[in-house]
Order: sequence, then C-alpha cells, then structure tokens
Amino acid sequence: MKLYTLARKINKKIKQRRREVAGRYLSPVRGLERFAVPQNERIVSMTFDDGPTNMPVNPVADPGLEGVSLTRALIGIMNDYDARGTFNVIGTTEHNYPDKMGSLHKPTWSGVRHDHYPMFGKDKYAGAENQKELVRELLKNGHEISNHGYRHVLFGRNNIVYGSREHFTNIHDVVSDLRQLHELMKNEFDYEMTMSRPPHYIDRIPDGFTSYDAYAVLGYDYLAASFDGGGWMPTVGDYKEDVRKMVDPLKNTLRADANALCGQIIFQKDGFNMSLMSPVATALREQLEVLSGYGYKVVTVRELKDKYPFEDFNDFSKNFEIARELDRRGYIIGYRTNEFKPDKTLTVGEMVMMTMKKSDYGKMLMNIIGSASDRKKHLKHPYYLGFLYYDRKDLMERSDEEATKEDIVSFFGDSFGIVPSVSGNTIKRFEYLEVLSELIKN
Ligand SMILES: [Zn+2]
Repeated sequence: MKLYTLARKINKKIKQRRREVAGRYLSPVRGLERFAVPQNERIVSMTFDDGPTNMPVNPVADPGLEGVSLTRALIGIMNDYDARGTFNVIGTTEHNYPDKMGSLHKPTWSGVRHDHYPMFGKDKYAGAENQKELVRELLKNGHEISNHGYRHVLFGRNNIVYGSREHFTNIHDVVSDLRQLHELMKNEFDYEMTMSRPPHYIDRIPDGFTSYDAYAVLGYDYLAASFDGGGWMPTVGDYKEDVRKMVDPLKNTLRADANALCGQIIFQKDGFNMSLMSPVATALREQLEVLSGYGYKVVTVRELKDKYPFEDFNDFSKNFEIARELDRRGYIIGYRTNEFKPDKTLTVGEMVMMTMKKSDYGKMLMNIIGSASDRKKHLKHPYYLGFLYYDRKDLMERSDEEATKEDIVSFFGDSFGIVPSVSGNTIKRFEYLEVLSELIKN
C-alpha cells in the first residue's frame, strides 16, 4: 500500500509540472478539475467511477439496503438529498480474459492483466453493456453519464503500480474503445456523453498522443477531480473506520473553510474498493448530510460547467457571458487547465484558435493521425491544426507573439469578411471576446 501512496505522490508532482506547461496553450479539451463559482453559491459535483454495479452493497450496514445493488443504493441516497451525480461508467470488462485473479487489498485486486468490475469473474454485473436497466434508472433520476472506456483498458503504461497490465498502444485503439461506449449510449439511450476520464488517469498513449488527443477526436472534455471521496482505498479492517476515513476529510475541509468545496469535483466510486467492500454506500449519506448542512447543492459536472465553465473566470463585467456562450457553442477558448486568463494579452496563436470549433479541430486531428509529417507538427505545435485549418501556416512562427490590431483586422477580414473594431494596438483576452461575439451573432 505504501508503494501506491508513493506512486500517487510522485504522480501529483509530475502533474503539477505538467500543469504549468498545459496552462500555456488553448485546448479543445479542457481538464475539468474545478470551476470558479461565486462565493455565495455553494454548488459542488460528485463523480462515480467504474459502474453501474448490480451487486449488493457489502457489507449491508443499513438494513434498508438489504439485497439492494450498489448503484441503486447510491441513486436512492442521492434522491434523498436532491443530489445529481456524474456517473463515469464503463461498457464491460467481460472481454478482458484470459486473466488471473489479483491479490485482494492491492491495486491488482480485480485482475492481473486487466481490471474486472465489479469483480473478477462477475464482469456481467457491471457496466452499461449488461446493466442497461441501471443506466436507464440513472438517467431517469437526472444523473449524468460520462465515458470511462468501454473495456477500462489503460491508455498506456504505468510501471510503478500497474506494470503487469495490458494497455493500448495507439490512439486508434483508444478512440475506438471510447467510441464503442459512446455509440452504445447514443443508440440504446439516445444520450450524448460529453466528457471522459481515463482508467487510472493514465494519459500517455505509447504512439506519442495523449488522452487529450483522443478526447479531441470525440469532442469530449477531460473529467478530472479535485477532491478525493476515498471509497477506492482498501479496508483498514474496520468498516466504521473505512466510512469515517471517507467522511472526515470532507468535514474537516468545510470546518476550516465553508466555501472550500464551491465549484469542486469530488471523486467517488460506484463499485467495490480494493477489498471488495462498498463503504461509499454508508459514507455517501453522511457526506451529503455534511454538505447539505453547509448549504451545498450537488449538481452534475455538466451543469456546473454550463454555468461557470472556467476555473478562474466568472466576472460578468468582463464579457464573461460572451465567453460562456462561445464555450456552449463549442469554440476553443480556454486553456487545457480549464483557465481562461481574461487579463492575459492575446497572442497570434490564440487569435486564430479562438475562432475555431472543437468539432472542426476533432475532424482535422482525425485526418492527420495517419500522416507522419502532420502528426509530428501537431505533437510539436499545439496550434498547428488551427493554422492548417485557416491555411495560415505563415502565422505559425509568430504564434506566441502578441497579436496587433493589424493582425486581428487582417485575419478577420480574410477568414470571415468581418471588419472588427479593435481599440488598442494589442488587446486582452477578455476584450477579444467582443470581437469574437461577431462570429455568433444571429
Ligand atoms: Zn476506473
């Protein structure tokens, strides 16, 4: 277990460094970790991974949950608090065989070469493919569904914890796995998923692409989280203690600062922990009790993002409403870190990218995956596809320079036949929103 904790720590450090890099460029796919919510508005989201799960809660600590499947138990508890969650479901792990059972209480608890949910040998009891009734139930109760991979196969290698695991080797396989679940949700439930979280947060695909590229092809955002609900940990040997370990961090956080969870995403599990137990079935009620005591409303990530799309921007006096509308319409206006940086001066690259739609970017990316030279340029330059799309590769060298009034006027004239009004010689990103609003008039 120590190794696992260490791995998570190292992972966190690496992620911090990557975050600095990620915050430099606009991205069609944003890592949704938290949202800037006005301080007086206490809203928070919860995501539930690896379900839906049609096996009884374990142990049955609440007599009302006798014979009730885990997902149904969660739906019932959420209903009692008028809470809506984002269920990050799998398709099925039933094809992840041959495999061997792993060791209980360890990261390989569900299988050596693959994950098996809800547990080894019982794959048909979890996932959207075989648990359609539970998916229907979730949707009927207003919950959101997101894509956690059809087979829950790792996108790439992670030697520290999951060295024995099989993983995908290229973006084609990642995309087709995600697409399989996407189509299932569309065909069976007429439901369009808009976000995804990779199995075990492993982002690097061995062929050089990352989860962000795969998500760009599908038009998804990256469903991250900012607060760990803790239900995945192995048991400490005492169920009450397991539950306490899930509730106390939340309690303590809010005791220190009642607004601390505003706009955050809490990670939860719709499945067994590493010890084949489901403390979430007890802890969730206590967590929701605490949250509602502080006046929090639990909403889906989709709803949270729709209201306050960015993690650093909700200032209505600075064209926030225009940014929100552009985001709703699928324009690429935010950074990979889910920041907007309203006061940053606009660069040439941003000037171009912000006029592009995610759907067009996704199509472009799909087209160049097979071309070695385009692919190299894309992996090297985050805005390559934007310049390619507008046939303005001449601007690429000046991508990081501040955009001048002349740049903006000529780019808008050439690309859209619009003459924008720009006051200064260079402009801030929030000022550029007014220029962009020309694109969405009517
Ligand atoms: Zn998972």
